[in-house]
Amino acid sequence: MKTFCGRANPTTGAMEWIEEDEDYDYHQEIARSRYADMLHDKDRNTKYYQGIRAAVRRVKERGEKAIVLDIGTGTGLLSMMAASAGADFCYAVEVFKPMANAAVKIVEKNGFRDKIKVINKHSTEVTVGPDGDMQCRANILITELFDTELIGEGALPTYEHAHKYLVQEGCEAVPHRATVYVQLVESKRMWSWNKLFPIHVEAEDGEKIIVSPSEMENCPGVPSVCDIQLNQMPSSDITVLSDVVRMFSVDFSKPVRSASTYYRVQLEPIKSGEAQIVLSWWDIDMDPFGTINCTMAPYWVKSTSALQWRDHWMQCVYFLPNEEPVVQGEPVYLTACRDEYSLWYKLQKAREEENKADVCVESPVCRCQAHLLWNRPRFGELNDQNRTHQYVRALMKVLETDSVCLCISDGSLLPVLAHYLGAKQFFKANNLEDKIKIIEARPELLTSSHLEDKKISVLVGEPFFTTSLLPWHNLYFWYARTAVTSHLTSDVTVLPQSASLHMMIVEFQDLWRIRSPCGTCEGFDVQTMDDMIKNSLNFRESKEAEPHPLWEYPCKSLSDPQEVLTFDFRKTVPQHCLSTEGSVNLLRKGTSHGAVLWMEYHLAADISVSTGLVQISDEKGNCEWNPHCKQGVYFFSSVIESESLSAFPSTVTYAICFDTKTGEIAMEFKL
Ligand code: SAH
Repeated sequence: MKTFCGRANPTTGAMEWIEEDEDYDYHQEIARSRYADMLHDKDRNTKYYQGIRAAVRRVKERGEKAIVLDIGTGTGLLSMMAASAGADFCYAVEVFKPMANAAVKIVEKNGFRDKIKVINKHSTEVTVGPDGDMQCRANILITELFDTELIGEGALPTYEHAHKYLVQEGCEAVPHRATVYVQLVESKRMWSWNKLFPIHVEAEDGEKIIVSPSEMENCPGVPSVCDIQLNQMPSSDITVLSDVVRMFSVDFSKPVRSASTYYRVQLEPIKSGEAQIVLSWWDIDMDPFGTINCTMAPYWVKSTSALQWRDHWMQCVYFLPNEEPVVQGEPVYLTACRDEYSLWYKLQKAREEENKADVCVESPVCRCQAHLLWNRPRFGELNDQNRTHQYVRALMKVLETDSVCLCISDGSLLPVLAHYLGAKQFFKANNLEDKIKIIEARPELLTSSHLEDKKISVLVGEPFFTTSLLPWHNLYFWYARTAVTSHLTSDVTVLPQSASLHMMIVEFQDLWRIRSPCGTCEGFDVQTMDDMIKNSLNFRESKEAEPHPLWEYPCKSLSDPQEVLTFDFRKTVPQHCLSTEGSVNLLRKGTSHGAVLWMEYHLAADISVSTGLVQISDEKGNCEWNPHCKQGVYFFSSVIESESLSAFPSTVTYAICFDTKTGEIAMEFKL
């Protein structure tokens, strides 16, 4: 079977559909999956095990046989825990075929073949009866179907169905209950991910302020969840306006309703301020008595020593439709609305409370288009006054009163900035004022009539393109520049004039876990899973860098940052590959988990912006990263070896090649 996979082509900036083997999807999914992260989550695993043991014990004490239904068994881990705890039989349901196959192998290897039946189906397809997948309904229901938002992976409909058709009334459930917590805050930093702030431009004839249109001001944004590692957000970026409040709970041992509903709580602000954001997380009680609790609460709610790092469950940031002033001590009502898969919030003043009919049923829909064009980090980037200032300075250097400018970048404000700085003629390819003409044509299809027969004297780009995944995918700017060459004057100014790729060897505080083998988990041999992930990573020998926003994932630099390749935008893209080889010295002791790669853009002489490292902040090598961009992370396959490096300084050698035909960067590292 063949499948079509969407992929951004960095040489055309377009999404393309590529025909791939059926295996391709599987390998991608497994290689980038969260299974390793879950298996490394000791806190989660031990609490599930305690909860499962207690549930099996309670059923046995009632004199019943313990029949387990484990929905979404993955590696089979929770079923193996149940079997070890004395369950009589387990039905382990897994919809993803490669995982179901792995579960069969893992169950067998650990000697549970007679106790666990793996069923490769979606739970809603499972049948019960003498000829069914399950002989009878189960009396213990175990699942781990939660995402950061709790319900985003379909836990509610799955539970609803399971209670109707697959488990007995009065069954034990592990987890027994989930509770969602909220806290109302003001945070300029997070609010800047959702609204465009006024942009101040220092022009020669005084300060200009660019404001967003009112439809954008009042737009509720998009419903997609914003999940982040909230523990990396310094408390100085958050003003807490309310205590932590329990928003709602779901009891998984009773029939669950997935239909849309709402929950409302009264909050008493502990501080006056602008309510902008609802921070939210959940916990799960593994038993009915709440003695085995696994929580996602951030650092200011629980002691840092109790924090378990995990990437598969983080915390949620919900943006209120508008900022709302609240006064200390004056109650407000917070409403959480949910459908089957998602949540959104609304804040009302106490006096409006009587209006019971006024509940939100509609999830937020972007009306201004901006939230569809710019994702949250992009909003943050456009709101970064420092960054804007660099572009303004650079534009002022290159713009002349008679400049004819072309901007190539997605959803860029550069034309507006340039206009305020006095550029007379401005063209903008891809996506105000009669001085800016938006050309809806791809760069290679640009004609002189689009440009009113003028030649471009200044070509600008941030560069930023929405289809870019890895830092160097924005080199599409270079390809576009090459495509429009015939429309440029012979002495055209290109901004940025060049870009460079930078690289640094790092030790991650935690991120290494997501790609590190587990071996055994709670005493169960899960090496089959490790092998499967390794096999998928090596599929077509295409070990690639992956994008991660490193402000959320602390790391320590082990080498100096190194410039490895440069790209001269004043010239066209060359035919041949750009490659480099070299070595970096390791300056600090530590485990070399991988290399981080990022781009720097040289806007004009002496003005550069970095999409990666901002600075190495202390002598221990802790790093500060650009908070709006994802960096490229290349995980080394042999981290263990580097741990045993006794004599240091030692070196890491690299070979990096930018393939100008594909726009991709291939790399190899040797420790
Ligand atoms: N139980 C394992 C894996 C949890 S990940 C552990 O705790 O380590 C969740 C798994 O559930 C995924 O493998 C996903 O494919 C599967 N899944 C989600 N919903 C499902 C459903 N309704 N029926 C069957 N499998 C499901």
